[in-house]
Amino acid sequence: MTPHKTVFIPYKPKTILNKAKRADHWFWTRYSAYPYLGCQHGCEFCYCREQKFSPYDDPADFSHVIKVKENAPELLRRALKSAPLDAIFTADYQPAERMFGMSRRMLEVCLEAGFPVFVLERNPGILRDLDLLKAIHQKARVTVAFSIITTPDSKNYDRVCQMEHLAPPAKKRFEAMQKIAEAGIPVGTCMMPILPGLCDDPANLEAVSRWTADHGGSFVLASGLTLSDQQKEYFFGVLRERSPDLLALYQRLYPPKSYGPVGMDFHQIALQIREACTKHGIRDRMPRPIVPGEKRTLNKRVVELLADQLHEMELNAEPDHRLWAYRKAAWAVEDMTEDIGLLHRTMGLKGLQAIPDIGQMATVVEGLLAEARKERSQ
Ligand code: SF4
Repeated sequence: MTPHKTVFIPYKPKTILNKAKRADHWFWTRYSAYPYLGCQHGCEFCYCREQKFSPYDDPADFSHVIKVKENAPELLRRALKSAPLDAIFTADYQPAERMFGMSRRMLEVCLEAGFPVFVLERNPGILRDLDLLKAIHQKARVTVAFSIITTPDSKNYDRVCQMEHLAPPAKKRFEAMQKIAEAGIPVGTCMMPILPGLCDDPANLEAVSRWTADHGGSFVLASGLTLSDQQKEYFFGVLRERSPDLLALYQRLYPPKSYGPVGMDFHQIALQIREACTKHGIRDRMPRPIVPGEKRTLNKRVVELLADQLHEMELNAEPDHRLWAYRKAAWAVEDMTEDIGLLHRTMGLKGLQAIPDIGQMATVVEGLLAEARKERSQ
């Protein structure tokens, strides 16, 4: 681990807001806007070292050559003027933020525009902006997730810490989680990525869920490690140097040309996380941030309920055609421009059946709509 001098390169990109066709069913974000390229937390496993994300020839530069998008707040303000209301994945509290303050300024733009925000963070530095997050949450909703893949209780804690040695320790992230929860903002953990042989043992999955619940978190999401092109070689090099006993496992899970992990039973891990979350009274799904009073409140809640059921069915390994029916119904409701509640009030089930691509799911949607209405009236 040779220390590097950090270099900051300010520049002015032409655009800042990445837009998807619709919100995903995971973080519930449709947009993303990041203030920096490169990350001083320098996690060895970070997928951002892959060629398609990284502007660096040498993946090692990723952690100490930081490009600062100095016009990010202005670009964001302009882009949000014509963007339909939906959640934005933004802010980044790596140490550069203390010098440049771009995340704070971007959050100020989100507040001004009334857009919901999702922040995924490895740094308790986010607490500096708790006042602002509270204000956005009051107006438009905020969700925060801390990237945490291990706890001090875990048997591989020291080895995992080596993989993210430039980031503040997991304990500090949990303490920050507690403060965010106390401020009334939904917060939880993203176990991303679950490193094979280091983080995927049931005791670690249980410990992360328990620590999350004990610190006011309300959810744990998890996903596996992907490795491709220059990042795969880089990470194999890290293993060769620091954990050579794991190299053969990773070479088997991540053969040439695969993104991986090939042959890893992630379904089993998802079930174990579900079990641990249930035991500690939290969820393995993130709540959708929905702006109070917006026209499509019911649509968004119905989509959330459909996606929750889809997740349930995936855990139960239900057949693909059933999963696709729910997925397509969720997309169909998400894509509607009119209020699904009004449509149902004026046309009943026939109105729902007329939604493009809803197929035979209209009666399921009708049931979920009744549930969403009931919640709203409580
Ligand atoms: S904190 Fe996130 S973005 Fe930064 S290096 Fe680690 S995994 Fe990558």
